[in-house]
Amino acid sequence: MDRENLTLPLARTLDKLAAPEVCAPLLKRLEATLRSLPAKSGQATQAGYPGGRLRFMEVCGTHTVSIFRSGLHSLLPAGLVHISGPGCPVCVTHGSEIAALLELAARPGVTLATFGDLMRVPGPLAPAGPDRSGPNSLKEATAAGYRVEVVYSPLNALQLAAARPDRQVVFAGVGFETTAPATAAAVLRARAQGLKNFSLLSLHKLIPPALRFLLRQTDQAGQTEKTGPGDIDAFLLPGHVASVLGLEPFSFLADEFGKNSVVSGFEPADILQSLLMLAEAANRRQPAVLNQYRRAVAARGNARARAVLDQVFSPVDALWRGLGLIPQSGLALRREFAAFDARLVFDLPPPDPAKAEALEQQSGCRCGDVLKGGLRPTACPLFGRACTPARPVGPCMVSSEGGCAAYYKYGT
Ligand code: SF4
Repeated sequence: MDRENLTLPLARTLDKLAAPEVCAPLLKRLEATLRSLPAKSGQATQAGYPGGRLRFMEVCGTHTVSIFRSGLHSLLPAGLVHISGPGCPVCVTHGSEIAALLELAARPGVTLATFGDLMRVPGPLAPAGPDRSGPNSLKEATAAGYRVEVVYSPLNALQLAAARPDRQVVFAGVGFETTAPATAAAVLRARAQGLKNFSLLSLHKLIPPALRFLLRQTDQAGQTEKTGPGDIDAFLLPGHVASVLGLEPFSFLADEFGKNSVVSGFEPADILQSLLMLAEAANRRQPAVLNQYRRAVAARGNARARAVLDQVFSPVDALWRGLGLIPQSGLALRREFAAFDARLVFDLPPPDPAKAEALEQQSGCRCGDVLKGGLRPTACPLFGRACTPARPVGPCMVSSEGGCAAYYKYGT
């Protein structure tokens, strides 16, 4: 099917993007393309696929869930291997960041405003460890009497602050380039309104530095891992992040690491078409960043959203759960917005990466390996036993976009 023909009419009827009459031909073409890839020297072959298996990482949790929920997981050709990546914002929120939120929520006069999916994410304490005297999640904190309010947007947090001048409202800013512009806009509005009781704890993170970090780790470690980042041939990139950034910030995947990538929409036909584009690209000499999601993503992204981000935030080193400290992968408020920076307003100590990492090891959770693509969730010894969506040990089982939750809910 011609790409223009797929993209344009179907954009008007999203439900068709999951229709069998649209997906089945794409699946057939994908299979044929994979089977036609020529053998490469040194590459293990797979019966019927002389070129071996094409291993792609879906960076974003929304893609992971779509692949499972739609049933694509069981339909994809044997010539493909899909590996989940670090693109679930709740999953990569570090235990020490949850601890900082808990510390803020415990302060007298403070109301913590947060998105609901952060409520059950565990902090750094072991499930039954010796330090288990206090709450280890915002949900437990609420039960313990801390003031935690679930909001649906940063603007709701502003409204909360305006309605309660007697309380200090702190907004927990989580998410990637997709949600950070709305947080930045809220800070600008707070300044315009002269709000004195609103601040932000920015835990926002950036996707391109995390991908660079993953691939650099691979370079250093050598090609030794069987299902880890060392084996990734290509990337399925998050369409919503690219709608802000555009394509250029991902060009290093091709230029520095020789990997093909495709910005993809989230419906089953989007994903199949994206995989077809990656399979076709595998045969070309020049790796590239492709754009399947042209109905939502312009090559240059959203200049206005990026301008708001640049005005309010600057990049800083950030801790990612399971991945550790990644250079320039977080967003901190610029100095001129210090009055809204909860770290400064409440004099929070800077995170100690070594201590934070040591605490994270205690729970036995292997989310870090899952997020790096180095472990299938089902291979975690706690999966489905000590760790279930009802009693999650790690954030990958909490979030609706988490790899472990997706495998648990749809994988069997
Ligand atoms: S199954 Fe649970 S404990 Fe294991 S990696 Fe996933 S979230 Fe962590």
